[in-house]
Amino acid sequence: MLYYNSTRNKDKYYTPSYCIVKGLSEDSGLFVPSDISGIKFDLNYLKDKKYTELAFEILKAFLPDFSNEQLKYCIKNAYNSDKFENDNILSMHNTEDFSILELFTGRTIAFKDVALSILPYLLKCAKDNLGIKERIVILTATSGDTGKAALEGFASAPETDVIVFYPYRGVSRLQLLQMLTQKGDNVTSFAVKGNFDDTQTGVKEIFNDKNFNELLKEKGIILSSANSINIGRLLPQIVYYFFSYFELVKEGKISFGDKINFVVPTGNFGDILAGYYAKQTGLPINKLICASNENNVLYDFFKGGKYNKNRPFKKTIAPSMDILISSNLERLIYHINNDDDKITSSLMKDLKEKGYYKISEESYKKLDEFIGEYSSEDDLRKAIKDCYEKYNYLIDTHTAAGYNAYTKYVNENDDKTYTVLLSTASPYKFSKDVYKSIFTDNTDFSDDVEYMYELNKKTNVAIPKAVNKIETLKRKEEKVIEKDMMKKSVLDYIERKEK
Ligand SMILES: *Cc1c(COP(=O)(O)O)cnc(C)c1O
Repeated sequence: MLYYNSTRNKDKYYTPSYCIVKGLSEDSGLFVPSDISGIKFDLNYLKDKKYTELAFEILKAFLPDFSNEQLKYCIKNAYNSDKFENDNILSMHNTEDFSILELFTGRTIAFKDVALSILPYLLKCAKDNLGIKERIVILTATSGDTGKAALEGFASAPETDVIVFYPYRGVSRLQLLQMLTQKGDNVTSFAVKGNFDDTQTGVKEIFNDKNFNELLKEKGIILSSANSINIGRLLPQIVYYFFSYFELVKEGKISFGDKINFVVPTGNFGDILAGYYAKQTGLPINKLICASNENNVLYDFFKGGKYNKNRPFKKTIAPSMDILISSNLERLIYHINNDDDKITSSLMKDLKEKGYYKISEESYKKLDEFIGEYSSEDDLRKAIKDCYEKYNYLIDTHTAAGYNAYTKYVNENDDKTYTVLLSTASPYKFSKDVYKSIFTDNTDFSDDVEYMYELNKKTNVAIPKAVNKIETLKRKEEKVIEKDMMKKSVLDYIERKEK
């Protein structure tokens, strides 16, 4: 059976269920499959399957302690027409030169929905498998996007609650409306008087407060996070790499067995790592092109083998990629060092203490399939305009980093491999920047919700159902709290539930 290890200690073996409930290993390492070479998907067997059937086959291989019934239950609740605005769950848009995999058909119109819609159900089954009786309360600090995706993913999910904290007046109007119009009586959000760092620090303090956690345990509650390093978020992302490959075969864009390239707008390195696992388990992938914004740590890493976070943090128009420590990269580091936990620990120690590490020549050679590219703010805006004018297709600011990486790579290399660009958000999620990149008429609209309608008027691209007329939906009152009231708010929420 497939077990999991920590990237920092190979001596211990864990079941998938344990890893999903735990999230991060106690030694601060990340959970990785102990021997992925045992998994080789039969492409012939998979090629005609629907998205949900593919998800079943792939998750079954990676989660061997889940029963078939459990997996079917998770998939049925996650991938359906209520949660995704597409009968096939995801869709492909083909241009004459390349294809775009649209990962934004979920309720928060960004790619995190794909994993966060199934995580609550995986968590419930994992809990059952481990015999854990406590109720799980998920705490998340958000600068806008992840929080909403967690609220939406967990709304009405069994035996869990979600509490989201966001900076008061620190999120866009669309993000605020998304959170305040959230349905479900097991999810709630608080606006914290402070910035995002204050909010995140507050959540970390709650997690680290032993007394508080013991008090909650007596009440039958354990705290958890829906963090992107959880294997329960990583594994569901492998599915769409296979899905898009088979779509291309069906549409005659490639022949069965051909290798293809993927371009992935990257932040925490979760999405692209799922592509690496897809390749390891049998998908014919040539290059994985890692697209960054001005926070170009990964670009430098793929160029020279040195990861250096000692540089200014830049706020860009692609905020979900504004990251200087790409947590999931630790998993790749572990694998390219022949699954060596000692080397990985020592590199991560360097990162913590010095802010950088350098990998060996030998392991650097194993990064051959990765290409790093990055975009300036100007590149992003030009990419949006260029893609719209050339292909009549509207992309968001994150996907723009991918589009720019693709055009750069194709211009500089003689590689004719067919390419899929992963589109990580709907252009309507970042309407203002998308609008301003294309239309330079100097008109100003009051906020991003206004821009959404203006962008629609100008382009006729349909606004996703999930946000159309959002300002007219019934909304809850915003709950504003002081920084030092976060713990109390958690307790109040739990006590209210007990009644
Ligand atoms: C989270 C996110 C990314 C980055 O994905 P990672 O898995 O963190 O690399 C890219 N684009 C959008 C829109 C996102 O929300």
